[in-house]
Formats: sequence, structure tokens, C-alpha cells
Amino acid sequence: MFENSIKAYEDAKKVIPGGVDSPVRAFKSVGGTPPFIQKGEGAYLEDIDGNRYLDFVQSWGPLIFGHCDSDIENAVLETVKKGLSFGAPTVLETELASEIVDMYDNIDKVRFVSSGTEATMSAIRLARGVTGKNDILKFEGCYHGHSDSLLVQAGSGLATFGTPSSPGVPADFTKHTIVCEYNNIESLRKCFKESNDIACIIIEPIAGNMGLVPADEEFLKECRKLCDENNTLLILDEVMSGFRASLTGAHGVIETKGDIVTFGKVIGAGMPVGAFASNDEIMSHLSPEGEIYQAGTLSGNPVAMAAGLVSLKKLKANPSIYDELSAKALKLVNGLKEVASKNNVALQVNTRGSMFGFFFAEKEPKNFKEVSQFCDFDRFAKFHHEMLKKGFYFACSQYEVGFMSTVITEEEINRCIEAADEIMKNF
Ligand code: PMP
Repeated sequence: MFENSIKAYEDAKKVIPGGVDSPVRAFKSVGGTPPFIQKGEGAYLEDIDGNRYLDFVQSWGPLIFGHCDSDIENAVLETVKKGLSFGAPTVLETELASEIVDMYDNIDKVRFVSSGTEATMSAIRLARGVTGKNDILKFEGCYHGHSDSLLVQAGSGLATFGTPSSPGVPADFTKHTIVCEYNNIESLRKCFKESNDIACIIIEPIAGNMGLVPADEEFLKECRKLCDENNTLLILDEVMSGFRASLTGAHGVIETKGDIVTFGKVIGAGMPVGAFASNDEIMSHLSPEGEIYQAGTLSGNPVAMAAGLVSLKKLKANPSIYDELSAKALKLVNGLKEVASKNNVALQVNTRGSMFGFFFAEKEPKNFKEVSQFCDFDRFAKFHHEMLKKGFYFACSQYEVGFMSTVITEEEINRCIEAADEIMKNF
């Protein structure tokens, strides 16, 4: 069933490290060969062996309207005809920025970049430049891209200065990164007692990179409070949750607001786009208005802007989409939970808008250590493979989440639950 993909993977490995351009795509945590995709159509992916899959990954989040949405496709095609890139200002950038400003009341200005990594890296520089401080505080299990100072692993204590998690990152580059435990207020307070040089806290308010683990409201409030008391900026990383968790992302479902917000994924509708955004005062420090340098040859690319613009306009014009997506995500995870309990399989489930997660675990994990300790990874790998064979494409790691799209139907969700039931019977 995967013959062509197996061959393509071997060929790819000869010319691309590990055969992939982003490690997660190699299926390392579940094993086996990743299907090589030749096209997407609505709710489905098709691989080069002709297998079709109901797609719950959606390019890791951007495709809230599924593949080849005709409005987005038309906007892209029309824009492409006028040129691919100018390296000069376009009205499209203003229009997309205006859509974001319009929806988030803590945002006055937006700067576009080409990836989530660039967005968070630039947001951190902005926070350091504005506060004049050096340290940054992140949480174990939150992912903010692959820039040097963020590739850290926590030490054994509650709050530690991070050590590099990848060769190639000098320890000197991570010595200003403090790593704390997610959802642990004590750990957070300890950091602020130990350092008065913290420029920013960066957090995924709804973590989607250790499975789906939302931050407790009380914990987020403590982040906000400590930032306010210490001249520290709060960066809410909404690269994944932005326009996913609600029309105003995580900001729509939590009470805390970020000083700087980072975006990616949905705002580019599948094109390479990221952004960071804040109020007038903070953004005025950015070059060319201010002194803090940040730039990009392809930043604000017109084709990417056109795609994102149509996507956000469609969402804004019909906000009930979020109720439908939330209901479908809930239907899916509740269905999975039901068949799991029928088959005596321990399963924890969660959703936030169109993001959903499930853990093969007896108890709900609240931080990265608990995800690692509580979850049955072998069971997940088995589930993943069997579902793939039945035509359901889930994220290939228990540390990832799933995404619902407008084009997935209730009937398809029912089929997915039935397939899961058959698999779990043989666990
Ligand atoms: N922040 C978050 C919350 C993310 O989920 C990701 C990517 N999954 C990033 C940042 C990095 O984005 P990119 O892969 O586009 O660099």
C-alpha cells in the first residue's frame, strides 16, 4: 500500500537529510514510512500510491478551510499573475495587518515575517530592546520555533537556566533562557525571585506542542501579574492558536492579554507567513521607526498576504464557523473517548475551538513531564499506524495536536470513530 512512498523516501534520504525538510515529517516517533503526498483536495490528502486520507493535520494547522479552498485559490492565482515578489510595500500587507488589528483589541500594529520561528525570535528581540533586559522565560514543552536561544532543555529543578537541546547551539546563547514548568505557579515565582533581568515571558497560552495542554487561567493571570510588577513583557505565542481557538485565537477564550502576540499558520492559509504584533508604543521601537532591527527580503510576500487576507475575511464574515468547528472537534474526541472506554482503553481528550488532542493516559497531563510520564507511546504508535491504513491522517506524535476544518463532515467524523473502535478492540 505504501510502495511508492517507501521508494520516494529512500530517494529523498540520498539528497535531503533524513529525507525531510522538517524532522517531525519523518514519523520518527511512530516509526514506518511517511506517505509522500501528491495532492490535497478538500478534507483529503492523496499520497503517491493513490491512498486517500481524511486530513486532521492540515499542514500542521494553517488550512482551516481544508485543501484548495476555491476563494483562497482564486486570490492566489490572481495575485501570482501580477508578480511573485517585489521587495517593496504593497497594499495587501496593510489590508492583512488591518484585519488582525481590527480583531485584537491589544494590537495596533503588525510586522509580517515568513515563519513562526521568525515571529517569536523577532518578538523576543523587541521585548529585550524595549525593556533593556536580557533574560527570557519559557516553559518546558512549549515550542516557539528553532531559533538558538529557544532550543533549550530544562534542568532537573523547577526553574533552571536552559542548556542547549541541540548541538550547534552554544551554551552562551542559552544562558539567558530560563525554563519553567508549565502550569506551575511556584516555579514561575521562583524565576522572578532569582532574576530581575527578565525581558519577557513567552508562552503558548494553549500549548499544542506537548499534545493539547491548555494553561490554567490562574497560571496565566500570575504570568500577567509578574510581568506587570517587574517591567517584563508577556509574549503570547499564537502561531498555532491564532484564528484557530476562536476568531481571536487564545485571546478569545482566556482572560489574559499579551503585550506582544505572535502569529503564523492560519494568517497565511498555507503560505509561509508569520507575524508579531503589539501596541503602538512597543511597535514604535522597531526599525525603521525605532532602533530595534528586524528585516526580511520576502517578508509580506504578496501571494502569501493575498491567501491570508481571504482566509481571515472569510472567518470574520462568518464567525459561527468557530461554533461549528468546536462542535465537530468535540464530537470527534467525545466519540473517541466513548469507544476507548467501551474497549477499556484509558484515553484523555481535550479541545479548544478547532484544536483537539488525545492522550493514551489514565490521568490528564498538565505539563510536559506529565505528558512524558502518563502517556502510552507504544499504544499511540499502533493507533496512528492502524488509522493511517484505514485512511485517517493524524499527527504522527502524541506531542502534537489535531485540527478540525470546515470541510470535514459529521459523517466522516462518525466513520473515524468507528475505525478507532475497531482498532481499540484489538489493543
Ligand atoms: N510557535 C508555535 C506555537 C508553533 O506551534 C510553531 C510551529 N509549530 C512555531 C512557533 C514555529 O513556527 P514555524 O514552524 O513556522 O517556524
